[in-house]
Amino acid sequence: MITVENLSYSYDGDPVLDGLSLALGDEWVVLAGPNGSGKTTLIRQLNGLLEPDGGSVLVDGTPVQDDPVAARTAVGMVFQSPRSQFVASTVGADVAFGPENLGLDHEEIDRRVDAALSAVNLDGREDERIDALSGGERARLAIAGALAMEPEHLVLDEPFAGLDWPAQRSVLGHLDDLAADGVGIVVVTHDLRDLRTRADRVIGLRDGEIAFDLSPEAATEALPDIDVRVPDGW
Ligand code: ADP
Repeated sequence: MITVENLSYSYDGDPVLDGLSLALGDEWVVLAGPNGSGKTTLIRQLNGLLEPDGGSVLVDGTPVQDDPVAARTAVGMVFQSPRSQFVASTVGADVAFGPENLGLDHEEIDRRVDAALSAVNLDGREDERIDALSGGERARLAIAGALAMEPEHLVLDEPFAGLDWPAQRSVLGHLDDLAADGVGIVVVTHDLRDLRTRADRVIGLRDGEIAFDLSPEAATEALPDIDVRVPDGW
């Protein structure tokens, strides 16, 4: 469970989030909002990449700042531009990086790398160079890197940006499997295609505030108010 309490954050004195509160459990949440509404600023606090100016973020009851390693283990993050997220040049080394940093033994690291790659259909491709992968494969690799930490929550920032439709479908299918395994999913996106039946909640952000927190059905009328397009067939 992630609990955000009265969270405030400013860049150079410019407030972006001002007293935002939210609880995220074992569910599929879509976080939607126009550019600049504070989505990325919010999710970067969920595992301590940014520190709140005011209020707090608790992961399983513990403030993120008190135990950043536990927060980063429990809350996996997949960024918008996976390329900037990779730390190694080959697939296997990249996925192993997180578990290595947890100080796990080699056997456990190998087990996690195998499981994470297999979860995104990249098994057996450990030795391939990341720069030779397609965009869709890179997006899946970024997810595998987060999965190797065995997170309770997976937060994905615009995971479909730059992906063609088959690749988007494939990523969605993998997220379905994770959700079925009890991983809480938070998808930050403008592209709501195929999310209506998956999402438990749609949270709309506007100017750093929660404009609404509704079921996908109920969000249909609220989305245009925050300038997010409701896709055909939603
Ligand atoms: P979103 O993810 O919804 O597009 P962001 O959280 O990226 O929104 O940005 C919210 C606001 O904070 C915007 O006005 C943006 O210009 C500003 N902002 C984001 N990152 C920085 C930064 N590193 N320095 C200064 N301002 C920033």
